[in-house]
Amino acid sequence: MLVFLLTIAFGWMGFYRFYKRQYFRGLLYLFTFGFFFIGWLIDVICALREMLTAPAPVVLPYVAPRPVSNGPATEADELMKYKRLLDSGAITKEEYKQKKRELLSKKKPEELFVECPYCGSKNDKNAAKCSSCGAFLRS
Ligand SMILES: [Zn+2]
Repeated sequence: MLVFLLTIAFGWMGFYRFYKRQYFRGLLYLFTFGFFFIGWLIDVICALREMLTAPAPVVLPYVAPRPVSNGPATEADELMKYKRLLDSGAITKEEYKQKKRELLSKKKPEELFVECPYCGSKNDKNAAKCSSCGAFLRS
């Protein structure tokens, strides 16, 4: 960008050629007003094309290392993951909200089971009787 602007401003003095370390041509430009403005025009186009084709710097989103845990990822972990994706622009705000809703509406596994007060085995929450000992789970 800067090179492009400087070429427009000082190209007639051979700026672009000096920038390219072509000192002979730079001097030639300087004494002929950018090769009678034709060379200047060419340089401006060159600088413009160079600016447009230059690869954009790759900015990788910083992802904080997750603390090592043996347990399964919790909803908070999952949510943080999606928050990072949102911040890095990988997902849209709508997608993030959708994921958040999904995660928050997702029932924890423990809530799906009810522990039998007699034998301690886990039973389906909707089960009326314990599958192990047959005791009534609901009053
Ligand atoms: Zn039982």
